[in-house]
Amino acid sequence: MQFIRDIYASKPAARQPAGVVEAPTRTEAGRAADRKPEIETTSTPARRRPVISFEFYPPKTDDGGLNLLEKHIPALLQAKPDFCSVTYGAGGSTRDKTLMIVDRIQRQHGLTALAHLTCVNHTREQVRELLARIHDLGCRNILALRGDPPNGGEFEPTPEGFEFASQLVKFTRETGDFSIGVAGFPEGHLACQEGKHADWRHLKEKVDAGADFVLTQLFFDNADYFEFRDYLAGKLGVRVPLVPGIIPILSASQITKFTRLCGAKIPPPLRTQLDALDNDDAAAVELGIEYATRQCEELLRAGVPGLHFYTLNKSHSTLQVLKHLGLAGARHGARTG
Ligand SMILES: Cc1cc2nc3c(=O)[nH]c(=O)nc-3n(C[C@H](O)[C@H](O)[C@H](O)COP(=O)(O)OP(=O)(O)OC[C@H]3O[C@@H](n4cnc5c(N)ncnc54)[C@H](O)[C@@H]3O)c2cc1C
Repeated sequence: MQFIRDIYASKPAARQPAGVVEAPTRTEAGRAADRKPEIETTSTPARRRPVISFEFYPPKTDDGGLNLLEKHIPALLQAKPDFCSVTYGAGGSTRDKTLMIVDRIQRQHGLTALAHLTCVNHTREQVRELLARIHDLGCRNILALRGDPPNGGEFEPTPEGFEFASQLVKFTRETGDFSIGVAGFPEGHLACQEGKHADWRHLKEKVDAGADFVLTQLFFDNADYFEFRDYLAGKLGVRVPLVPGIIPILSASQITKFTRLCGAKIPPPLRTQLDALDNDDAAAVELGIEYATRQCEELLRAGVPGLHFYTLNKSHSTLQVLKHLGLAGARHGARTG
């Protein structure tokens, strides 16, 4: 299986001069929220094929597992993603399921997997063992995270464990030959009292500790991503891929809950549209596809290295977005136009 750093290196983004902000402050995705969903034709293809990745989480039930493994993952693989990532439940609660899905993605589908790993409730020795298990599965890619406490509240470091993800990055780098990704927060991390610039400097510490790429938290205003990218690349000299995380909304109540938990904001025009849906989930799905498509179009024009989709273990919306972008296949064709 491939190192993810090599996948990004093989598809270099159209680089922006460091520190130059090309994005409008009122983004196209923001304007899209003012319109009725109206996508019918495939939009202009991107100039090159970016790295496409999908995120899954280990389902709680056997039915959920079957649905994911037998239905949604195979459906999404039609879009020929470059890799798939699997989350790691709070405190190791999904450890075995995470590894099982990583293994299935790699062995059954022949696709590169990225295993998420967190510091919560783990000593260094436990992390060392987990890294060995992941390595034994033939997986060479780790998303190194601090993780959130299982029942909310403040993060408490485990004795003999790690306090920050940067320490996990360093430990992983020293332990085995892995490509390492980390989380980035275009609006700043919720717990960082000193504000987003301090959080972004902490992100640079993760890169300095050995991270090869950054996957961002979901966001809805591209201006936040552009500011984040320009600060990191322009002011802090970060050179690794900063990959936007995109979520096609599936339901108004669900996205309200998610954004509250992760600290991302819903721009007022999008909020108004969601409120007007009156809990009609089918309409929310359509709006989500429209919004994510416009968001991705603008990001692609701005030269992002890839798109990381929070699939929520469902295939339809992500596939529709990729179809609208003209990116629903052809993994090996480096350029689409
Ligand atoms: C793409 C992505 C995938 C995710 N997957 C999972 C998952 O699978 N499982 C899961 O439980 N959670 C996951 N999360 C959530 C993530 O674990 C939480 O948001 C967590 O609170 C922060 O993790 P981190 O790795 O960014 O932590 P860190 O980088 O350690 O940062 C945590 C906080 O500490 C601050 N900080 C960092 N270094 C220092 C320092 N030296 N001094 C002072 N403050 C510092 C940061 O600014 C931040 O506020 C994911 C998030 C993203 C964006």
